[in-house]
Amino acid sequence: MNDTLFFGCKPLYVMAKPVGARCNLSCEYCYYLEKVNLYADKGENGVMSNELLEHFTREYIESQTLPDVLFQWHGGEPLMRPISFYKRAMELQRKYAHGRRISNVLQTNGTLLNDEWCRFFRDNGWLIGISIDGPQEFHDEFRRFRGGQPSWHKVMRGINLLNKWHVEWNAMAVINDFNADYPLDLYNFFKEIGAHYIQFTPIVERLTANGCGGHLATPSATNATLADFSVSPEQWGQFLCDLFDEWVREDVGKYFVQLFDATLANWVGQEPGVCSTAAQCGQSVCMEHNGDVYSCDHFVFPEYKLGNIRNSTLIEMAYGDKQKLFDNMKGNLPGQCRKCEWLFACHGECPKNRFATTADGESGLNYLCEGYRKFFKHVAPYMDFMKNEIDNRRSPANVMKADIKS
Ligand code: SF4
Ligand code: SF4
Repeated sequence: MNDTLFFGCKPLYVMAKPVGARCNLSCEYCYYLEKVNLYADKGENGVMSNELLEHFTREYIESQTLPDVLFQWHGGEPLMRPISFYKRAMELQRKYAHGRRISNVLQTNGTLLNDEWCRFFRDNGWLIGISIDGPQEFHDEFRRFRGGQPSWHKVMRGINLLNKWHVEWNAMAVINDFNADYPLDLYNFFKEIGAHYIQFTPIVERLTANGCGGHLATPSATNATLADFSVSPEQWGQFLCDLFDEWVREDVGKYFVQLFDATLANWVGQEPGVCSTAAQCGQSVCMEHNGDVYSCDHFVFPEYKLGNIRNSTLIEMAYGDKQKLFDNMKGNLPGQCRKCEWLFACHGECPKNRFATTADGESGLNYLCEGYRKFFKHVAPYMDFMKNEIDNRRSPANVMKADIKS
């Protein structure tokens, strides 16, 4: 393979999982946990070895075409590795950087944070993503330890430590059937605890008796039933509209809600910062603790495995034919989407959720479609206004003073 053919196509991102799917929590809706089953019979101890860490670090840096390299650490719960693992990771990053600027982000449930972790993150400029589903009553409904104990107090302890040590962090909340009807309770809570960047992620899962490596249905399964914790399309649409109404009156430019930023980016013709509403997938492959690489974190199923880093290069896997087929899946849309006035802002959302049927019986419609249509219609006048401000080199935050009705 001629690697140079692929240089300049797009940046290469790998979401690395140093402990695979292992976690100290057992959140009811978590799609990672049962991925442990994929490796249960392989006789592995379930963590990334030092040798693989070095192999990955060297190759990941050498595969980059841009001067900035972003390492993304995910789980499971990545803080189940000792701090020495990440110190070693940074030594290796320095060893192989060869002038490139390297940064690190880590997504954690926050329960294992302590002063030592926070000092390390602060000293080395790591950005930390905290998974927290809002105030205690919402968070503890699903996010519990393996023994069933609630986790919210431990997460808040972790957040307080991050704030004490001035570690940069953002919040990721899963929106489910239980918390979706309380958008302002969630939003105000995040503002109170000092989260300025907030990602709200709708949970949509399907279950089957014959799921691959567990009970989660593969995205292509036809015999699956919706998990009852999933957010409904109506809830998701209303959640976004109510949240947007609050944000657009008070907080533009002060608080950053990922989907609102992505929507504005699509409105002005820029690349959105989130793959679900981008025109193409494939911005980020994911690598399990043993070096297996998959097309996407949401597609860790055997049929979406691209190979193993010990046998194939990251460039071969991330830009190879199998991943190109995966990328193309995003543009494979039913007629309803192709004719939709919001296609430019939605792009059919994540293929994982495209198991609904259009009014005229065509398959492949996104389950959340109704919610997205409601949201895009609702925000269109505001987005038009902000686009006009940007086009005229004024601040989009002027929308807060504008008299707009949707
Ligand atoms: S499948 Fe979904 S989560 Fe994965 S890259 Fe595509 S849009 Fe993103
Ligand atoms: S809003 Fe619905 S119809 Fe329009 S592009 Fe999105 S999923 Fe398709």
